[in-house]
Amino acid sequence: MVRSPYFTDDHAAFRERTREFLTAEVMPNASAWDREGGLPRSLWKSFGAQGYLGLLHARGAGGGARDLFTSVVFLEELGRTGFGGLRAAVSVHAYMATHYLAAAGSPGLRRDYLAPAVDGERVAALAITEPGTGADLSGLTTTAERDGDHFVVRGVKTMVSNGTGADFHVVAVRTSPDTGSGPHGTTGLSLLVIDSGLPGITITATPTLGWRAAGTATVAYEDVRVPADHLIGRADAGFYYLMRGLQLERLVAATLALGGMDRCLEDTRRCLTERRLFGGTLSELQAPAHRVADLATELAAARQLVHHTAWLYEQGDLPATECSMAKLHTTELACRMADASLQLQGAHGYLDSSDASRAYRDARAATLAAGPSEVMRDLIARAVLRPRPDSPAVRTGGQEGA
Ligand SMILES: Cc1cc2nc3c(=O)[nH]c(=O)nc-3n(C[C@H](O)[C@H](O)[C@H](O)COP(=O)(O)OP(=O)(O)OC[C@H]3O[C@@H](n4cnc5c(N)ncnc54)[C@H](O)[C@@H]3O)c2cc1C
Repeated sequence: MVRSPYFTDDHAAFRERTREFLTAEVMPNASAWDREGGLPRSLWKSFGAQGYLGLLHARGAGGGARDLFTSVVFLEELGRTGFGGLRAAVSVHAYMATHYLAAAGSPGLRRDYLAPAVDGERVAALAITEPGTGADLSGLTTTAERDGDHFVVRGVKTMVSNGTGADFHVVAVRTSPDTGSGPHGTTGLSLLVIDSGLPGITITATPTLGWRAAGTATVAYEDVRVPADHLIGRADAGFYYLMRGLQLERLVAATLALGGMDRCLEDTRRCLTERRLFGGTLSELQAPAHRVADLATELAAARQLVHHTAWLYEQGDLPATECSMAKLHTTELACRMADASLQLQGAHGYLDSSDASRAYRDARAATLAAGPSEVMRDLIARAVLRPRPDSPAVRTGGQEGA
């Protein structure tokens, strides 16, 4: 029986099928992929064959055009695997990089990049952050200069998830100087699709504390010639596309965090009920039991915030403030939960190979990626303290934070 106003019986059946698929296809090898720092091609293809890589994209854009709550189910289940690198890799591909192609890509770009990405034949990365700037998009310095029917791209992107294995990158580039006068924020940015194998591109793996299977890389573009028709949407409208895309990114991050916390709480519960000490189980001691009660209560509240935000998102008006709240609250709660889980599992939890260790490392990434917590607080504070319903700053967030 479905016990939520947001989910139907179809969602429940989809959840069951997805959980079975992830249990069979992902769980046996996920630790190895985490150690190796990347996902195999075969996995992308099997995600594609199941239709998981285009759930949200419109049918005209090659996707499955399923409702948003189908994606919520998929992302929760992906999070429940407990592997942050896997969930980052898949979500960057399916909900971030390819989102821009589905939303504003030309028919040619959709045919050559989006369709094979939905099938799992080509892997996508999103390259916004640079060594010199992340949260402040006005500081982006990677340029794309028009030269005949090409752009010439120069610059360096860093912290690129899927960077070591992606076939193409959706890259935020500067096509005009920032005039500082844009009604919606930073001006002069555009989004370009760049094949990762083009001459002039150097990709360097940059291993991270967590999210290891995401294959994070730094990518240098040195006089890279990119066909002009690889521009996504309009030139100089990149900030507008990014602001819309970042709301989805934050909602996706929050939903993945819910699934990750489900797994973390389940692992903690198992430990508490199985571990014997002082003549009983750990769960019989009041301090750990109450700690788990508090975390379970906070998770239940977080779930309502995320589901409500997804519902608002589906109504069509971007709930920018709620997306920031959901991202802020869930990713910070996930850190607290991973910390408590590790503590309650004792020294075993601290082993590098333990699930608790990985949850702890992986949770830490999410308060930084997709805009750090401080930026989320800035955006929320702005909406709360200076609410102007018609202001683009309230509707779109109006602020940076890749
Ligand atoms: C694991 C991981 C994966 C990532 N994957 C990608 C990816 O695939 N593609 C991509 O483009 N980027 C990616 N990022 C980068 C991410 O989007 C940036 O980390 C984020 O935008 C912040 O930028 P920054 O890290 O350069 O920090 P900065 O912008 O330099 O900020 C540094 C710190 O300053 C503080 N701060 C920032 N702004 C404010 C403010 N307004 N008020 C108060 N304090 C503030 C915060 O503590 C912040 O962490 C990833 C990051 C991580 C950790």
